[in-house]
Amino acid sequence: MLNFEKSKQAFKESSQYMPGGVNSPVRAFKNVGGDPLFIEKGAGSHIFDIDGNEYIDYVLSWGPLILGHADPKVVKDLQDATTRGTSYGAPTLLETELAKKIHEIVPSVEMMRMVSSGTEATMSAIRLARGYTHRDKIVKFVGNYHGHSDSLLVDAGSGVATFNVHDAPGVPKDLAYDTLTVAYNDVAGIKNVFKAHGDEIACVIVEPIAGNMGVIPGTKEFLQTLRDLTTESHSLLIFDEVMSGFRAAYHGAQDLYQIKPDLTTLGKVVGGGLPVGVFGGRRDIMEYITPDGPVYHAGTLSGNPLAMTGGLSTLEQLNDDLYKQMFARTDELTRGIKQAADDHHVPVTVHHVGTMWSYFFNKGPVNNFADVQKSDVDYFAKFFKALLQHGVYTAPSQFETNFMSSKHTKEDIQKTIAAFNAAFDDVSE
Ligand code: PLP
Repeated sequence: MLNFEKSKQAFKESSQYMPGGVNSPVRAFKNVGGDPLFIEKGAGSHIFDIDGNEYIDYVLSWGPLILGHADPKVVKDLQDATTRGTSYGAPTLLETELAKKIHEIVPSVEMMRMVSSGTEATMSAIRLARGYTHRDKIVKFVGNYHGHSDSLLVDAGSGVATFNVHDAPGVPKDLAYDTLTVAYNDVAGIKNVFKAHGDEIACVIVEPIAGNMGVIPGTKEFLQTLRDLTTESHSLLIFDEVMSGFRAAYHGAQDLYQIKPDLTTLGKVVGGGLPVGVFGGRRDIMEYITPDGPVYHAGTLSGNPLAMTGGLSTLEQLNDDLYKQMFARTDELTRGIKQAADDHHVPVTVHHVGTMWSYFFNKGPVNNFADVQKSDVDYFAKFFKALLQHGVYTAPSQFETNFMSSKHTKEDIQKTIAAFNAAFDDVSE
C-alpha cells in the first residue's frame, strides 16, 4: 500500500483555512472517499505527491497540459518572460501574437478578448449574446458545465453533478428562470423549446463534445439542429470549447463537425497551464464589446504577459504529427481499458474523442446526463482508489474527463492498461 501520510497531514491543515481544504471542489476526493493527494511536482506525463509517490497523470490539470508537465520550452519561455515583469495593464505584442495564432487555428474566431478563466469567457460571451440580441433567455444542456457564473450553474455537470447541487443555491431564482435547460442530444426537446420561446432566446450555449459528465460527443444531427434553430430565430450559437478546443481535434469540435458557431469560448490548453480564457467569434458581434460597443467587458489581468506566454509557447508547439501520436495513444489506451473490463466481466462504456477519454461503469449506451447517472458510482470510487495504488492518477469522479498529452509514451500506455487490469483484479476480489 502507498503511504499518503504527508498528504493526510497537509489536508488536515488546509481544511482549517479553505472550505473542504481545497480551492476547487472536485479536487477534494470527497466523492470517491479518502483525502486528496498534495502534489509536489510534475514532469512530462508523471506527477509526484509530497509523500514521494509517482503516478502516470491523466488529469493534466483538468486538461490544459497537452504538452505534459514542465515542458522545457514552456518553462524556458516563462522564465524569460518573468524577467521582463509580470503585468503592465497596457497592450503588449504578445496579445496580438496569441490572438493571430488562435484565429489561424480556429478561423471562426475573427475577433476575441482574452480573459483569465473559462468561467469568465462563457460569462462574458453570454452577456455579449444578451446585449447583441436584446433578449434575456439562454439555453443550456443538462450535464454541460460552462464554469460557475450564475446563469450557467443550472443543471450543470462537473462538480455540480458530482456533488448533486443542481438547484444551484445562491443563484437568484429570477436569473435561473431565464436559463432554459434541455437534455443533451435531445433533438425533439430543443425544437420544442424553440417553438415555445424562439424569439426570446439570446443564445444556445453547448459543449459540442461534452466533457463534464464524462466524454459524450454531441451527435451531428443535434449540433446541426442547434445551428439551424438559432439561425432561424436570430439567436446566437455559442460553442463552449474550453475543453474540446485543441483537444477533440487541433481545430476544435467545430472543425470536426464542420459547424460554424457565432461565438466560441476557449480555455485550458489555450493558456498552457496559465490562467487564460478566450471568447470570440463573428466580428460584427465582437464589435459590440466596450470600448467599441456598449457591452461591458474588462479585466486587470486580462491578456497578462505571463499567461499569454504560456499560451503561445504551447500553441506554437502543436502540430499534426503530435495530434496523430496522441490520438493513436488514446485509441490504444481506451481499447485496452475496454478489453480489461470485458476480461473481468465488468460492464463498462468507454468513450474517447481526440485526446479526451472517459469510462463509465455502465453498460451503455451513454448519450446524455440521465444515462451517465445510471453508472455505478460506488464501483467507480473503489476502482479509482485501486488505480491510484497501481500508480495511475485519473479524474476522481465519474462525471469528469481524462486527457492524453504529447509526453505519454507507449510504455506509459502499456503500464496504464496493466494497472487497469490489476485494479479490476483488486476490486473484483
Ligand atoms: N467550460 C467548459 C466546457 C469547461 O470544461 C470548464 C471547466 O472545466 C469551464 C467552462 C470553466 O473553466 P474554468 O474552470 O477555467 O473557469
